[in-house]
Amino acid sequence: MKRIRMVAGNWKMNMTYEMGRDLVMQVRDGLAPSEVKVVFCPPYIHLKPTSISLHDVLNLHVGAQNCHESEKGAFTGEISASMLKSVGCEYVILGHSERREIYKESHKLIGEKVKAVLANGMKPIFCFGEKLDSREAKKQNDVVKKQLKESLFDVIEKEDIANVVLAYEPVWAIGTGKTASPKQAQEMHEFIRSLVAKKYGKEAANLTTILYGGSVKPANAKELFGQPDVDGGLIGGASLKANDFVEITKAFF
Ligand code: PEP
Repeated sequence: MKRIRMVAGNWKMNMTYEMGRDLVMQVRDGLAPSEVKVVFCPPYIHLKPTSISLHDVLNLHVGAQNCHESEKGAFTGEISASMLKSVGCEYVILGHSERREIYKESHKLIGEKVKAVLANGMKPIFCFGEKLDSREAKKQNDVVKKQLKESLFDVIEKEDIANVVLAYEPVWAIGTGKTASPKQAQEMHEFIRSLVAKKYGKEAANLTTILYGGSVKPANAKELFGQPDVDGGLIGGASLKANDFVEITKAFF
């Protein structure tokens, strides 16, 4: 088995219904057939139409940006994992730094969401990464280790790690235009893979897809994705521009 390479686009809270529909069409029509999996993670209102547009297109998938940890109930404004599954979602971004920061999501809560997504047959795209002060204090490895342990390693068994995509996103690089250097990304990804190996074994670690996220654009994607432990990217701003997103998906070749 080969490790899956992937580019996922996190639209965040952007795009009206019409704009989103056009963007999906433009990207879909611009992509060349390849082995790289491309995942669209738009706001909830776009999930069903996007999954209809991508139905049966090889290697194109739909993901959500969040979900509630409970199955159903009196949680006004929330969306459950089974609802996401029912509109064609295959992936769910969890633990994004904006959810951790703005909505104060704890390691424990993120772990509960991971369980809910897996229990519904979808794959979490589990985001984690250090803030600038931790990087400056050379504490990035400790931060990442704790995030992985408390929301993932303490929560899921070996058979589930194959259904988790990891996304290392240094917070200081998200939406700032500052990218981790290819060397910084490779060092961290290698460390992350070693942690997965320690917990779930070498074979599982070798098959785990580890994405890099943080100001990826066409100009830097090739060098980042060329690193041996970087298996693709989670793309924010550049996923809103069809040409840029399509170019990024080609950066593996
Ligand atoms: C993100 O929000 O996950 C992200 C990586 O954003 P950007 O590409 O805009 O830095």
